[in-house]
Amino acid sequence: MPITPGYQFASDNCAGICPEAWEALRQASEGYAPGYGDDSWTARASDLLRELFETDCQVFFCLTGTAANSMAIGHLCQSYHSVICHRYAHLETDECGGPEFFTNGTKILLAGGAHGKMDVEQVRDLVERRQDIHYPKPRVLSLTQSTEMGTTYKAAEIAALADFAHRRDLHLHMDGARFANAAAALETAPKDLTWKAGVDVLCFGGTKNGMPVGEAVIFFDRNLAEEFDYRCKQAGQLASKMRFLAAPWVGMLQSGAWLERARWANRCAMKLSGELTALPNVRILHPVEANAAFVEDARSLIQQRTSK
Ligand SMILES: *Cc1c(COP(=O)(O)O)cnc(C)c1O
Repeated sequence: MPITPGYQFASDNCAGICPEAWEALRQASEGYAPGYGDDSWTARASDLLRELFETDCQVFFCLTGTAANSMAIGHLCQSYHSVICHRYAHLETDECGGPEFFTNGTKILLAGGAHGKMDVEQVRDLVERRQDIHYPKPRVLSLTQSTEMGTTYKAAEIAALADFAHRRDLHLHMDGARFANAAAALETAPKDLTWKAGVDVLCFGGTKNGMPVGEAVIFFDRNLAEEFDYRCKQAGQLASKMRFLAAPWVGMLQSGAWLERARWANRCAMKLSGELTALPNVRILHPVEANAAFVEDARSLIQQRTSK
C-alpha cells in the first residue's frame, strides 16, 4: 500500500514516532549501557509504570503485541486449559495461532457480544456448560481494551467480568494494545481500569501509542510472573539492547505524552466519524469510543470520493 502525503487513516501502525519517544531514544544511545535489561533505562521505565499504576507490579518489555499476549497466555495456561475471549479478539483472529503455539495446545473458546465487548452471560455459558474432564478447562478470560471495534469497557464492566472469572478460578488477562486510548477516553485512573477492577495481567501497548516498537507485559499478581523472564528469553523477546525498548516508555510516561497523544487520537477519530456521518449513505458500525471508526463499505466510499 503506497503511503501518500497527507493523512493516512488505515491504522495507528502507519504513524511515525512521537517526539518524546524519539528524544528518549536519542538520549539512550549516548554512551554505553549493560545489555539484556540490566540498564538504567529499563529500571526507570519499570519504575514509571509502577508509579502510573500505583502498585508494585512486575514489568517485562517485549517487541510485539502478539508476543506479549502469546507469552502471557502461555504462562497462565497448561496445554489442557482454555482461554475465553471475544469472537473478534486479536488473540483469535490476528495472532496466527501464537497463543495456541506458546501453550502447546490451549484451546480458545469464543464468546460473542455487541461491538467487540464480551457478553458476561455468554462467558458464563462457556464456563458452566461443561465441567467434566472431557472439556478443556477454562483458565483465562481475556478482554481487549480498547476493543477491536473501537469501544471501551468501563471499570465496572471489567470488575463484573473479573468477579465472575475469579469465582470460577480463571485469571483475567487484558490485551491493552490500545490501553492508552481507553484510559484517555474513560478519564479513569489506570489502576481503576486494571488491578483494582481485577485484572491480573496487562499487555500494555507502546507501539500504537506512538513508540517505534515495544509492549510491556505487566503482572499485577507477582506470583503469576514467576520465571516469566525465562519465557521471554526462550521466545526470543529478551532484547539485548533492552534500553531501546525501554527508553521510549520513559519519554512517553515522564512527559505525560502517552495520555495526551491518546486523547488527541481519540478526538481525531471522533472528528472523522462526525464528518463521515454527514455524507450521504455512510454508516458508522460501532460507537466511536476510542481512536477507531469503522465505516460500512468503506471501499466504495473511497472509490466514490477519489473518482470525483
Ligand atoms: C495491534 C494489536 C495487537 C498487537 O499486534 P502486533 O502486530 O503483534 O504488535 C494486539 N492486540 C490488538 C487488539 C491490536 O490491535
